[in-house]
Amino acid sequence: MLHVGINGFGTIGKRVADAVRAQPDMTVAGVAKRSPNFEATIAHDRGYNLYAADGQAPFDGAGLTTAGTVHDMVEASDVVVDTTPGGVGATNASLYEEHDTPAIFQGGEDPDVADVSFNARANYDAAVGADTARVVSCNTTGLSRLLAPLRENYGVEKARVTLVRRGGDPGQTSRGPINDTLPDPVEIPSHHGPDVQTVFPDLDIDTMGMKVPTTQMHTHSVNVTLDSEPSADEVLDLLSRETRLFLVPETLGIDGAGKIKEYTRDAGRPRGDVWENCIWAESVTVEGRDLYLFQAIHQEADVVPENIDAVRALSERTASAEQSIERTNDALGVGRGLVEHEGEIRRADSIADD
Ligand code: NAD
Repeated sequence: MLHVGINGFGTIGKRVADAVRAQPDMTVAGVAKRSPNFEATIAHDRGYNLYAADGQAPFDGAGLTTAGTVHDMVEASDVVVDTTPGGVGATNASLYEEHDTPAIFQGGEDPDVADVSFNARANYDAAVGADTARVVSCNTTGLSRLLAPLRENYGVEKARVTLVRRGGDPGQTSRGPINDTLPDPVEIPSHHGPDVQTVFPDLDIDTMGMKVPTTQMHTHSVNVTLDSEPSADEVLDLLSRETRLFLVPETLGIDGAGKIKEYTRDAGRPRGDVWENCIWAESVTVEGRDLYLFQAIHQEADVVPENIDAVRALSERTASAEQSIERTNDALGVGRGLVEHEGEIRRADSIADD
């Protein structure tokens, strides 16, 4: 069993901890937190060893027993997943080095925090044998999963993506906007394109970002100029074989992120999490070599299975990308509870043509 410590128990950290616990080959060594807030009580209720990142006194004061300091947790871990806020992870890098413990950072850190920027579908092997990896951001994860099979099968001349981003997560009461539509960042390209290039260094990609008043999901408007001219049905067939892409059938009547979240809550997903990219099948359109589609990305959830694969890549060094992805998916339930879609998704107009 791999003992995995999680430093930072917020939006991503609590999900990664639960995902580690679900794996047959991993166990939670502990979780480190700074403050004894509601998430600390959840960690305690879940039975995770709680370590103090910033002194044990506040936890003692709140009646929460700690197992030691964050140093003790790192020492007890085979791998640490750092899920502290963006920029804080880099300040923890020396802690992991000091204990010679492999570490995984998140997309809020600069790429140079780690040996490799990681996406399991795109470049798992690059992280095998590395001491550190950075699981790329939710948006970059969503784009990497989509672009990897397109590049392998058709070649990509250029990708252009407009990312309509959620203003904040449900728990982020200070984020916004609450009544506006912001070009964000206003500079073009947005930072997302260069981030995707940390996974695919030779990819030509331009991105534009916006922020809107929702906490549900990000939505991407995607245009990819391919090197060849597949039909829309061929693209749908290709994407339907990807385990972390969900092609939303028109028959479900899902018109936005709210209904996707409602669907996954109804399906019994923990926290209503959507680990897969949700691509509206009806939107998949090919004109010449230009592919167009819309996809929604659940920012709180899509990086979670990627963190699990990153743990295996850094530590186990024997599982292949396919084996790790399959093991993670099985244990977590990725793809489960959503309609069987493989081979069934066709565009309505092409069905009418048959
Ligand atoms: P968060 O604020 O929800 O959680 C961070 C947690 O770390 C909080 O509990 C905070 O109290 C704790 N913390 C702060 N400083 C700490 C320290 N020094 N030691 C230990 N714990 C500390 O943040 P998040 O949304 O989970 O983001 C974590 C990372 O994941 C960031 O790099 C972020 O960019 C990335 N990420 C976030 C999302 C998202 O949508 N939330 C998606 C993908 C990637």
